[in-house]
Amino acid sequence: MAEDDNGYPGARAYLPSARDAADLEGLRAAAMHCLGCPLHVGATQTVFGSGPATARLVFVGEQPGDQEDRRGQPFVGPAGILLNRALRDAGIDREQTYVTNAVKHFKFTQDGDGKRRIHQTPDQRDVVACRPWLAAELRAIDPDVIVALGATAGRSLMGNDFRVTRSRGVALPWPPPGMAAPDRRQIVLVPTVHPSAVLRADDRDVAYAGLVTDLEVAARALAESA
Ligand code: SF4
Repeated sequence: MAEDDNGYPGARAYLPSARDAADLEGLRAAAMHCLGCPLHVGATQTVFGSGPATARLVFVGEQPGDQEDRRGQPFVGPAGILLNRALRDAGIDREQTYVTNAVKHFKFTQDGDGKRRIHQTPDQRDVVACRPWLAAELRAIDPDVIVALGATAGRSLMGNDFRVTRSRGVALPWPPPGMAAPDRRQIVLVPTVHPSAVLRADDRDVAYAGLVTDLEVAARALAESA
């Protein structure tokens, strides 16, 4: 079993057999026991993706936040509330979508008095360790369109050189050249900013409008793939 330099084997060691990996519920159950990297140590639980296995549109974010970690569901905190509003404004039915993250455990530091958990951006090692879960989710769902929300999701899906700022709102072929498995059909990936970046923006209205515009690109790609 390959280990990283922390001595952890990565998520691949916890994936179910190929037959069971085709089933989203089987994947979810297996991911609950993942000890593939050090992030499980401080976090409350694995936060796996959520939504119907039949979803044709998948959203990939960065990692669970504080509320997601406590509740065990992705995108249920402030960023998730904003995403729901943006989906409505872009004409996308969230109930028909699947939402997940590039990294399934909350990475954080404690503030000085230990009362507050402060988000830490996952590094490349975290993303690589957890990528087998994301790859397995995408394989099980086989969507027509993926939206990458933010830089971490973009790098997990498109490679380390990917920059959301250069490609946001553009319908790209996925997997990109060099990352494609021979049996993988090409679908559409639309990168955009993470909703939390909208919440942090100096001009939230402008940032929000930009997010909705990018989501409208995804909605059109979905309609064209029908
Ligand atoms: S972050 Fe991913 S690889 Fe690391 S322990 Fe959690 S589920 Fe496993």
